[in-house]
Parts: sequence; structure tokens; C-alpha cells
Amino acid sequence: MSSPLLETYNRVNLTFTEGSGAWLKSSEGNYYLDMGSGIAVNSLGHANLELTKALTEQAQKLWHTSNLYQIPSQIELATKLVDSTFAEKVFFTNSGTESIECAIKMARKYQCEKGEFKKTDILTFEGSFHGRSMAAISATGSEKLTKGFSPLLPGFKSLPFENSDMLEKLSFEDVCAILIEPIQGEGGIRRASKGFLKKLREICDRTGALLIFDEVQSGVGRTGLFFAFEHAEVSPDIVAVAKGIGGGFPMGCCMSSAKIGESMAPGSHGSTFGGNPLACAVGISVLEKIFSSGFLASVSDKGLFFKNQLHDLVKKNPSVFGSVRGVGLMLGLKCIKENISIVRHAQNNKLLVVPGGDNVIRLLPPLNITYDEIEEAIRRLTKSASDATGDE
Ligand SMILES: *Cc1c(COP(=O)(O)O)cnc(C)c1O
Repeated sequence: MSSPLLETYNRVNLTFTEGSGAWLKSSEGNYYLDMGSGIAVNSLGHANLELTKALTEQAQKLWHTSNLYQIPSQIELATKLVDSTFAEKVFFTNSGTESIECAIKMARKYQCEKGEFKKTDILTFEGSFHGRSMAAISATGSEKLTKGFSPLLPGFKSLPFENSDMLEKLSFEDVCAILIEPIQGEGGIRRASKGFLKKLREICDRTGALLIFDEVQSGVGRTGLFFAFEHAEVSPDIVAVAKGIGGGFPMGCCMSSAKIGESMAPGSHGSTFGGNPLACAVGISVLEKIFSSGFLASVSDKGLFFKNQLHDLVKKNPSVFGSVRGVGLMLGLKCIKENISIVRHAQNNKLLVVPGGDNVIRLLPPLNITYDEIEEAIRRLTKSASDATGDE
């Protein structure tokens, strides 16, 4: 049957009608344990009571006015972000791609305002994913995303991941910024080492390039710290955020230091929807939870518990899984069997996991998942592994 939708996704034949916490109910009345959270989006689970209350209360008052007027909840949300992170300036967007666009524009503008007119190149890394706009696919540079969309935007160079020697040999005369995910999400939960991130900071300090972290997937508590880069004790100049910050409501933001933010004067950038009252009401509610006492520590603890069980799972199923990756509740299982087939077996066992690059399956549960649910996920993964062992 032909669909009225662009066929840009290979959707599985599964429809969900409602959800609660880490559980989704299908149109056939089955309950699925959701270890994907809509790709790291439903950070506080489905139908979260506080978020629902924040959204519906706001919906009864005011939905949208535009950025022509004052939006106090934007300032409240931005203040929460600024008070708890490296950043001093925040721009609100509606998606990860838009946050990346803002980050790239801001980096270029900053160099231009400084009179560094040659500094326009953005360096990125193999296996990265930064979104689907022309700039974002040009940044990623992989054939899979760019084929058929030429001409790509100039000024982007993709480098090998984790190769410091190669970076040392480059001239940085024309380099505006380095853009990197501290943990690649789509690329298969590939974590940049502390040493590599420190090296990038050092090169940027030496050459005047800016360091941009794409924390669209890894940020907002997912790894047990607010940002994944905090594990490496490296401070960026600009960070792109989205996915988890809206808990399911489409929103994102781009954050920077004051000196970089100040290069963006009135008229230099904008968004009709960005930071509207509905989004901000939800964002504030998400951050209240994430920043509440003990919450991030609980994400770390659950992440460790989950990771230990996954190590066992790998040991017991060496023909199916190769290794465990990631930190906090941003975990991956490198597969020996084809990852897509394991995703399918998991689905048959009413467990939702997300495939990633490098033959990995991603486990990105809601951050408030319970220990019992983690154990249930392990039981379903164990069953899925034994089902996969039966294939040949
Ligand atoms: C999902 C993702 C994006 C793109 O976000 P959209 O909201 O789909 O535009 C960019 N960067 C990373 C690291 C992502 O995981």
C-alpha cells in the first residue's frame, strides 16, 4: 500500500497508543519495555506527571507570542542552564539540527567580528552525526547522508576519530572551530577519550579555534553528569543541546560563553517557534527534575548497575555480543550478529532498543527507570540473544 508520507524511514509495523514511564502500550494491547526513549528524548519517561502538568497548565494560559515580545519563562529556563553549566548565553531552538546551525553560525560570526576573516573552516570527525540540514550533512560528510544532495556547503573537513597525530600536523590558520560529539550517538556510542578532548581544547586555545560540543544526544543528564564533556574535565566554547531537554516536547538550545554570544547582534539569527511558552514550561520542569538533589547520581548508579549486567550478558553470549560501551544511561552493545536482527528479536520479546552505527544496539532508557526495569530489560535481552543464537 502506498503511503502519503515521504518514505524517508523504514518504519516497523508497530503503533503505540499510550505510555507510562519506561513502558509503551501497542495498538494490539501489548506492553513494551522502552530502552530507546524515542532516541534519548523521553528523558523522564512517557506521560510523566510533572511534565504533563507543566504543559497542560501552560496550554490553558498561552501557547505562543513570538520572540518579538518578552517571554519570562525563556529567561527562567536560560538562567537554570547558565547557573549550572559553563554557559553564559542561551538561544532556544526546536531541534538538534537547529542547535547545530546556531553553533556553526555563532562560531563563524565570532571569528568574523574578531577580524579573523580567514578562520571559516569547521573540523568534524568520521562517524559523527549532527543532523539533516545542508550544513549538518556537510559537517558529517558521510556518503550515507550526503549522496544526491550536492553541492554540499564548503568549509567542512572530516577527520579520523581519536587521531591526535593527524590533528597536530594540520595548519589551523583557516580553522574556525572543531565540532565533536563527546560520545557519538548515531555512530554507535563511541566515546572520545579524555586525552583526545583535552588535546582538542589545547589546540583550540593555541590557535584561536573554538571548541563546539554536540551534546544533542549525550547531554541533559544522560551520562550521569549534566553534560558528557564534564567526564573529561574539558570546557567548550559552544554546546548544542536538544533531544532530552524537552522530555518529548520538541525543543533544543545552543549555549555559549558571553564573549562568543555577544557577537550575535539583533537580526543575526532567529526562530519563530524557538523557546515558546509551551516548550519553556516543559523544559523548566525537566531541568527541575534533572537538577534535583541526587538525581544525576542516581543516573550514574543505575548506569553502572546496567553496565555490569550487560558485561555478564556479553560474557554469556559471545556469539551474539562483543562488548559493552558508554557511560551512565547512554549504553551500547557492540554486536557480533547483525545489530538489526537483534533489534528485531528484542522487539519480538517486547523490548525496544535502537540500532546505531558500527553494528551497535543502543540502550537509552528514561533516566528515571527503576532497577527492576533494568533487570527486566536484561532478562528480555538474554532471551533475545538466545533467539538470535538459534538463527543461522
Ligand atoms: C539527533 C541528533 C542531532 C539532530 O537532532 P534533530 O533533533 O533530529 O535535528 C544532532 N546531533 C546529534 C548528536 C544527535 O544525536
